[in-house]
Amino acid sequence: MTTRNRPHDTPATADKDPRRPAVLLCALALPVLIATYALILGYWARPDSTGRQLRIDQFLTMVERGQIGSATILSADDRIVGAYGGGQRYWIDFSGGHETLFARLIGALEAAKVPTAVQPQPLKSVVGPLSTMLPVLILGDIFVILYLTSRNGTPLGGFGRAGARGVTDADQTLTFAEVAGADEAVEELREIAEYLSQPGRFAAMGAAVPKGVLLSGPPGCGKTRLARAVAGEAAVPFFSISGSDFVEMYVGVGAARIRDLFAQVRAAAPAIVFIDEIDAVGRARSTSAAGGSDEREATLNQLLVEMDGFGAECGVVVMAATNRPDILDAALLRPGRFDRRVTIDPPDHRGREAILGIHAKGKPLGPGVDLASIARSTAGFSAADLANVVNEAALLATRRSSPSIEAADLSEAVERVVSGPSRRSRILTADDRRRIAVHEAGHALVAAVQPAAAPVMKVSVLARGHAGGFTLQAAEGDRVLATRSELAARVAVLMGGWAAERTCLGEASTGSNDDLLRATDLARRMVWECGMGERFGPLAISPAGPAGDDSSPEWSEETATAIDAETRAIVDAACESALGVVSANIGLLDEMAAELVRAESLEGDALQAFLVQVRPSADAASDLALVS
Ligand code: ADP
Repeated sequence: MTTRNRPHDTPATADKDPRRPAVLLCALALPVLIATYALILGYWARPDSTGRQLRIDQFLTMVERGQIGSATILSADDRIVGAYGGGQRYWIDFSGGHETLFARLIGALEAAKVPTAVQPQPLKSVVGPLSTMLPVLILGDIFVILYLTSRNGTPLGGFGRAGARGVTDADQTLTFAEVAGADEAVEELREIAEYLSQPGRFAAMGAAVPKGVLLSGPPGCGKTRLARAVAGEAAVPFFSISGSDFVEMYVGVGAARIRDLFAQVRAAAPAIVFIDEIDAVGRARSTSAAGGSDEREATLNQLLVEMDGFGAECGVVVMAATNRPDILDAALLRPGRFDRRVTIDPPDHRGREAILGIHAKGKPLGPGVDLASIARSTAGFSAADLANVVNEAALLATRRSSPSIEAADLSEAVERVVSGPSRRSRILTADDRRRIAVHEAGHALVAAVQPAAAPVMKVSVLARGHAGGFTLQAAEGDRVLATRSELAARVAVLMGGWAAERTCLGEASTGSNDDLLRATDLARRMVWECGMGERFGPLAISPAGPAGDDSSPEWSEETATAIDAETRAIVDAACESALGVVSANIGLLDEMAAELVRAESLEGDALQAFLVQVRPSADAASDLALVS
């Protein structure tokens, strides 16, 4: 849920283009040329002849008979006009004829002593050739316009334009102080900001400053924000573009965009270029033979060429963000390219508190709000999630017409962010409601009995997102590792709802679909990624092919069968354990479900009052199997 916040982005070099006056001139000339051509065709090129048209032989006969009164030769129109008979006008056209025809006509007129004059038509003799030249001029003008508006020799250059956004000074209010919970990353980037504010000083010392910094971390962890903060600290322009903007269907466009982007950035140096989702263009080359990879390769090569092309004195730093650093082309990570790598981890509880503080700044918080406790209950949230929590809470407070954001708004906002907006408007049948209550109580009971499972904080039958209800477990502290028994306990807790439905209501329902998917996925990953299978042993297999694409899995048929068997064994053990707990506590489950139906949600002491009564399963061996 990354929210981009670049409200006033403006193309940085839009009005610096020296070709602009020429383009304007040519664009104005075009209608003038076309109008002139139309006038020439319509008026000037029309011959000045009126009256009856005579055929040449008819004319010659009439001349011989003395019927022609006068003749005027129009030199440019190749016509003879005049009067005949009782003063009527005639004209003949000798343009298709030969020199001899003209001589014959003149001879006949002289012989018959017809008064003959020649009209020179000087304007027409100029306009004639012009009318043939004008189409050429018009076409030429169009080509010049296309050329001038092109970038890097690609006509209609807007097509190949980078579309990079430069942020104006007014937007660069972001500083390192406003990037909370990423202290290590900030420390690493401080040097880059110093270099950008005084590139000359570093160049004079001969210090090699990284040209490229690769920011890696999960979505919403603040990669864009960090890059913008570097630009803000150094007070330099910030150009941002997404890697996917470079990936075009048309060959050459991506590379042209890279060229264009770097041309813009060089003109604005010192500056930062931020390439989001660099993996879209920077994937390892030649791993997929599918169409489009040629274009991507050309784009990637162009990026490498550009990065090699500027020196330390240039003052350009390319920052790229990815959440898949593992699939990037090795060439991108070589010295002189993205050789500095900064990893951004999910924030710990102090970081989360600080991030909440940043986003709550300027918003009226009620006296009972304790950001530290919200931070503690949001382990695993990304910075973007936390920004969202504060925003949701503000919306909730506004909806209540409350003057300030209260603790309840924030905890509701946390729940919303965890499982999507609440769907209170949906009306459930009594049966469905009871089934959901039994299901959620099942999760809670199984979680309560597993020593390795995280404590249950809240159980609710209010619909959230796709789920009918939800059971919220607290993640204690900021765990980065999980043991086998903890993972197995998670699978068992996931199966708790299914086990409760089966035991209490006779059969399971579609309400367990999502749980089953998650349980199976978790069990399978325990086997193939973590080597936690009983018989399979500590052998980890990458789920994808060696280069990150799905084309060539690296396991054999037998291994796949073994993985399936191991996965099934883990899920079976979890089911058995969950069923054991549920049947040992069937009375309690019933009571709890009834209370849930009544109260809609249970938390705090009311919840604990149920959970302390939970007895381990009658068959304790199945629990032991899980924790072994
Ligand atoms: P990414 O680029 O990693 O996907 P963003 O930088 O776009 O993430 O951040 C997503 C959201 O989280 C933005 O609203 C941003 O303001 C907020 N955010 C990210 N990191 C922090 C931080 N360290 N402190 C405060 N807010 C943050």
